[in-house]
Amino acid sequence: MGTENDHNTASVLKPNIDICSPSFLSILSSPRLRLSLCAADCRLNTGHAGVLLVERRGSYPLIDLRSLKTNAQQGEVESGTRRKVKRLLSFQRYCHASRLLRGLVPHTPGSLHLLDDDYLGQAAHMLSKVGMWNFDIFLFDRLTNGNSLVTLMCHLFNVYGLIHHFQLDMVKLHRFLGMVQEDYHSQNPYHNAVHAADVTQAMYCYLKEAKLAEHLSPLDMFLGLIAAAAHDVDHPGVNQPFLIKTGHHLAALYQNTSVLERHHWKSTVGMLRESGLLSHLPADMSQDMEQQLGSLILATDISRQNEFLLTFRDHLDNRDLDLQLPSHRHFILQIALKCADVCNPCRDWELSRQWSERVCEEFYQQGDLERKFDLEISPLCNQQADSIPAIQDGFISYIVEPLFEGWHRFTEPSLLSRTMMGHLHKNKTRWGHLRYAQSPADTQKHPHAEEPEPEGGSGGGEEDGEDIP
Ligand SMILES: [Zn+2]
Repeated sequence: MGTENDHNTASVLKPNIDICSPSFLSILSSPRLRLSLCAADCRLNTGHAGVLLVERRGSYPLIDLRSLKTNAQQGEVESGTRRKVKRLLSFQRYCHASRLLRGLVPHTPGSLHLLDDDYLGQAAHMLSKVGMWNFDIFLFDRLTNGNSLVTLMCHLFNVYGLIHHFQLDMVKLHRFLGMVQEDYHSQNPYHNAVHAADVTQAMYCYLKEAKLAEHLSPLDMFLGLIAAAAHDVDHPGVNQPFLIKTGHHLAALYQNTSVLERHHWKSTVGMLRESGLLSHLPADMSQDMEQQLGSLILATDISRQNEFLLTFRDHLDNRDLDLQLPSHRHFILQIALKCADVCNPCRDWELSRQWSERVCEEFYQQGDLERKFDLEISPLCNQQADSIPAIQDGFISYIVEPLFEGWHRFTEPSLLSRTMMGHLHKNKTRWGHLRYAQSPADTQKHPHAEEPEPEGGSGGGEEDGEDIP
């Protein structure tokens, strides 16, 4: 889900703003904000000599809490914290190494690794239905022993014939995908490799849409899948305002603008180069691929939501999208990635609910950190004040629904779109019921507060069986 979206959303809200007020989006789309984003886009894409700057891998595996200490404490805390950070870093390296040993080593040309035969069979069976909207990524991650992202990407690259088309070296491909998966933080409740795998699976479903599929080139598919897989890589589990107010070096590096998204992109480029995955391609081609990946990943910055929505609606109103044009296909890939990133509320209730709880847990963890260090608690991050149903209600109404209404029109609408909208509306109703059931004081304000909850506990209802084949 675009909870980085939630994060970024939180970044521009004043503390006392109701997330469900119309100002939720208007603040995001203020001209001043958009201007600064555009300016930063121009400034930061390249280095002085026009050469794309990349970030060293692992350049910030942990949030550096030293900046939260007062000057008086600084001296004594410095050495102690440095020791702790060092210990954590070595622990993280140990975890990485042990995860690498348990299944990322290239094994066969296929997608599955060192797994129990039963699990392997079940995972392979799941992959045969990877284009279904009710694909359970949590189960798939368990069956693949935590390697859902690598396994899924290898499979989809095979499905699309991308390995053959781009003459990719399998060892380099595994090395690249392994690095991407490992650089997600498994301790993040939400922004981890399973979220990346989930977004990738959704992206694959969107790339299969009839409206789009026949026009896509191998390059489009390659970029769409890589961008989905890497769009949150090395996410620290806190949002941009947190990085800014704690003086994190990335905030300074990217001048407080699309800080996380730029880091995800530059890290991806760093890993592409380190793995040598594209080293056999002409330099201008690999550079173009890197730039396009940046444009796709930066589109997931939710503070640019209105900019994309307005353009999308204009195209739909004027019926002027020409998918023969690479630039129009690129725009639709950006929209598809944005949709994939925030599609959690469009899944059936059981999957959707799990994602909602995870993202709120991550928000609350940030709130706890802020409380601990006497920082102002960010919007949506206060467990005592911001309930999960309230956060989800606002997120669906002001972020997810407007975007998917556009996608619904674009697909004219497809069976998948109708299924997603069905889930979205049912899940929204359900969160609404839960929200007002939890806060009796608000009951009178909510017109449907007395109505029973949807039956069966599923947001999917009768449409569960209609998923795309
Ligand atoms: Zn994401």
